[in-house]
Amino acid sequence: MKIGEILKREFSVSFEFFPPKSAEGEAELFRTIKELETIRPTFVSVTYGAGGSTRDRTRNIAKRIHTETNITVMAHLTCIAHSKEEIMQILQDYKDIGIENILALRGDVPKDGLKDSTKGCKYAVELVRFIRENFGDWFSIGVASYPEKHPESPNMDWEIKHFKEKVLAGADFSITQMFFDNTYYYRFVERCQREGINIPIIPGIMPITNFSQIKKFAIMCGATIPQNLVELLEPYSDNPEETTKRGVEFAIKQCEDLLSNGVPGLHFYTLNKSKATLLIYQAIKHKIPIKDLSV
Ligand code: FAD
Repeated sequence: MKIGEILKREFSVSFEFFPPKSAEGEAELFRTIKELETIRPTFVSVTYGAGGSTRDRTRNIAKRIHTETNITVMAHLTCIAHSKEEIMQILQDYKDIGIENILALRGDVPKDGLKDSTKGCKYAVELVRFIRENFGDWFSIGVASYPEKHPESPNMDWEIKHFKEKVLAGADFSITQMFFDNTYYYRFVERCQREGINIPIIPGIMPITNFSQIKKFAIMCGATIPQNLVELLEPYSDNPEETTKRGVEFAIKQCEDLLSNGVPGLHFYTLNKSKATLLIYQAIKHKIPIKDLSV
């Protein structure tokens, strides 16, 4: 099913996975997926390694989810290191499999820069255009957005301008970078609305189970760790159980606040683990708007 269509009629709960490197990792991922399938997520997504490094693994995991479960799947695709021919092949393959949802991304620029940035798509907007030009409405297209701005964006005006370009090119919905202070998300959505951006912007939620790992991620992607979160978790950095307990409690409060402010969905960065996400879901499920199955 196309996520853009689903979002028009129901609240979305979704989970993100990365393709594991080993057979054991894949077996563990499918145990996680089976556990999370019990709560009937709206969709799950599979990330794409920088520079196409997980091209086959992303495809194979997405295909297995599509064929072995009842869950709608979205494949991430980064365009930065691919030629247009390669992008065409990847998309045609997804179409042949029957996967209808793509998260269209640029990907991070490699540390040594781009060897040949002219051969494919330089920015995500070009990938969105490429998909629409070659596949029409066959794919529902999601794009990334950044409530605290992308690290390369000089300011928020720039951020919104280029986000709007992706929407005008044909994106149906967006998932945000992780954030820990909802004020950033609310301000971002308000500014988008003022600019006439009306697609659903789904907040990306990162349940914290390992604080030092999340601090590193946050630095890389420009997400602020608020002082209250530091005070909550820093004293327990050597205590994984207490970190998970407190991290889950924090995420529950964050999600409750987002739900009471009418978000279109919640997207959980699971890091391939089900425990924290399931605990958060169980705590907030009674507050999730009822799905309208009649439409
Ligand atoms: P873009 O939208 O192209 O933006 C990148 C930067 O370029 C921004 O600063 C933007 O303002 C600027 N820009 C855009 N267009 C122009 C233009 N025409 N001229 C000048 N500047 C411009 N990475 C992965 O490798 N694999 C994944 O699976 C993955 N999944 C992700 C999922 C989500 C929900 C999010 C939020 C991020 C994900 N990322 C993933 C990270 C993402 O690839 C990086 O943040 C990357 O650096 C930017 O990708 P983008 O699609 O946002 O790029």
